[in-house]
Amino acid sequence: MTDPLPAPPAPRIVGAGPAAIARAAACLRSGGLVAFPTETVYGLGADATDDRAVARVFAAKGRPRFNPLIVHTASGAAAERLAAFDDRAERLADGFWPGPLTLVLTRRPECPVSPLASAGLDTVAVRVPGHPVAQALLARTGIPVAAPSANRSGEVSPTTAAHVRDSLGDRVPMILAGGRCPVGLESTVVDLSGPTMRILRPGAITATAIAAVLGEPVAPPPPVAGTADAPASPGQLASHYAPRAQVRLDARQAEPGEALLTFGPDLRSGPMVLNLSETGDLAEAAANLFAHLRALDAGGPPSIAVVPIPDRGLGVAINDRLRRAAAPR
Ligand code: AMP
Ligand code: MG
Repeated sequence: MTDPLPAPPAPRIVGAGPAAIARAAACLRSGGLVAFPTETVYGLGADATDDRAVARVFAAKGRPRFNPLIVHTASGAAAERLAAFDDRAERLADGFWPGPLTLVLTRRPECPVSPLASAGLDTVAVRVPGHPVAQALLARTGIPVAAPSANRSGEVSPTTAAHVRDSLGDRVPMILAGGRCPVGLESTVVDLSGPTMRILRPGAITATAIAAVLGEPVAPPPPVAGTADAPASPGQLASHYAPRAQVRLDARQAEPGEALLTFGPDLRSGPMVLNLSETGDLAEAAANLFAHLRALDAGGPPSIAVVPIPDRGLGVAINDRLRRAAAPR
């Protein structure tokens, strides 16, 4: 009788202390993958200058290669070595970095980022995250780190280390645990590479906040920009961030068997009901969105009914993610 094959090694979830961060930095520098917390969601990091490391990220996520990655650096100065910052980019970086804002800018000729990371475009998306673990890891590696959300492509983004393990399993050898992500939604992506500035993806930094820093009006992104055939930004597909269950928006109540995601003062409760924020706080709702979708999905309902969420402030980004979760697949 032959022995059964050994089980693949479980991904290691390690508390993000100094020793673990040093190990993670060494892993990144040698071409390995590390999942780590940021203020938005957990990222799946790789050395952005290493073609093979970047290819491993696309493979681990099952991400289509036309969907470029955001490159993370420890400082604005490090980002300026990769891309050309004009006056508006400088002001946005000064106003919001470190923080949940991504700038799409023209690559510098000497930019060392793998063309695969930016999907062969002459632009590169850069961000300086503010989460202390992400900051410590980036400072320790000293290299630009390409890091999309640490989930299989198309799935709901992870806001805890356990979500990363549930989604990627042994495709990621090391997960740095740093608690729940405080923002809970992906960064706002602003394209400054063309003649007119565009918000490609709404996120934690609102169009109003961007307009206030720039002193000029900023068009909010169209609701669910682009379609599966013609995404406004490569990778901004209509269907994304999707749980297994169907998602039904603007619901007043759950149909029999449906789970319910609600918001604000609401007396309904039960095993299939979760409230994004009982006090109607949109920041709390953003932080809970992905975890609540995952938790309701785990009960295996045919569909998750979602009550209307106010479409202002952070609600714009919440509704963007909900529309993508509800889009035909
Ligand atoms: P994710 O890595 O899942 O947070 O997604 C990154 C987002 O940034 C995707 O929507 C990409 O399409 C967008 N993005 C990254 N790089 C670029 C770029 N060079 N041009 C336009 N969009 C980009
Ligand atoms: Mg993602």
